[in-house]
Amino acid sequence: MLHYSCDVCKRPIDPRNDLRHVVKIEVFPAVEDPACPACDGDASDHLDAMQEMLERIEEEDDLTLDDGARTMRFDLCDACRQGFVRNPLGIKAGKRLDFSNN
Ligand SMILES: [Zn+2]
Repeated sequence: MLHYSCDVCKRPIDPRNDLRHVVKIEVFPAVEDPACPACDGDASDHLDAMQEMLERIEEEDDLTLDDGARTMRFDLCDACRQGFVRNPLGIKAGKRLDFSNN
């Protein structure tokens, strides 16, 4: 039988008593749509750009190709799930109250 624990508070999650929540976070680069009608230039320009990009990638062959994309998966207990939903990026509360009051 699989045992789960909360990835935030490390508390074991007993599926008989606790509700386990799965958080999946996908991080990937937002690539501009090359076919966007607002962009100038025709298809051959686009192909040239693609060719350049491919050549650049080949030059960097010794590096691990990493476009920054990540998929992360976390198990959360119910209490931590509530906190996560309220503040998914963990931004410190009260920061907005720092402004001077004059
Ligand atoms: Zn937790």
